[in-house]
Amino acid sequence: MRITFFGTGTSFGVPVIGCHCAVCKSTDPRDRRLRTSALIEAEGQNILIDAGPDFRSQMLRSGTEHLDAILLTHHHKDHTGGLDDVRALNFLERCSLPIYCEEYVQKSLKMEYSYAFDAAKIYPGSPRFQLETVCPDKPFEVNGVEVVPVRAYHGRLPILGFRIGSIGYITDANRIPDEEFEKLHGVEVFVVNCVSHRPHPSHFGLNQALEVIDRVGAKQSFITHISHALPGYEEFAAVLPEGVYPAYDMLSVEI
Ligand SMILES: [Zn+2]
Ligand SMILES: [Zn+2]
Ligand SMILES: [Zn+2]
Repeated sequence: MRITFFGTGTSFGVPVIGCHCAVCKSTDPRDRRLRTSALIEAEGQNILIDAGPDFRSQMLRSGTEHLDAILLTHHHKDHTGGLDDVRALNFLERCSLPIYCEEYVQKSLKMEYSYAFDAAKIYPGSPRFQLETVCPDKPFEVNGVEVVPVRAYHGRLPILGFRIGSIGYITDANRIPDEEFEKLHGVEVFVVNCVSHRPHPSHFGLNQALEVIDRVGAKQSFITHISHALPGYEEFAAVLPEGVYPAYDMLSVEI
């Protein structure tokens, strides 16, 4: 199986519009971060986690022409804002695309993309979503591939991380309840968010992210949802412990 980081930037992306800091002006391509998303390829299935505003460019630059499902961690725009572009896949495959998410996320999608749920089909060119409800304690399957939802919190908002085989993926969290760590036991690759050195009201700070990484104990851990408040790639990579790496866009990890 394989994970490819489609985007590793915080909600603003990096560089940030109008910012002239050293990270935003860096010429290292690893410091150019689209909004956070990742493709997991397992047993012939293409499973995308989140589809933010950069979804279209991420599909094009990775040459991805087929998805079996999209899993949504939560309803924020940096994770859902690209879903209108599912139209291209609906057109290619002549069917709707399964979107797995919690009920409150579905409610939000029905508001944000109301034209796609209009029973009268006034606008025939709208994206076709097949909504599948995820409960945090119920593993589910995407065409035979088991997905284990992991409950985490983003400030007070309950969100989902996912375990697929030996990959654990959690973004936008600042707390993972003790009992959820059990679901991550034995993962080989672990991905977790961190936006800045200091704890943020709804995201892990660096020390908190490193504590979580240590507790999960994967062979390789990657930090995502990175902002320009963290150092540029080279400098950041140099201060992280062994086996912990900053993710960067289009990094692919095979397991
Ligand atoms: Zn986010
Ligand atoms: Zn900046
Ligand atoms: Zn968020």
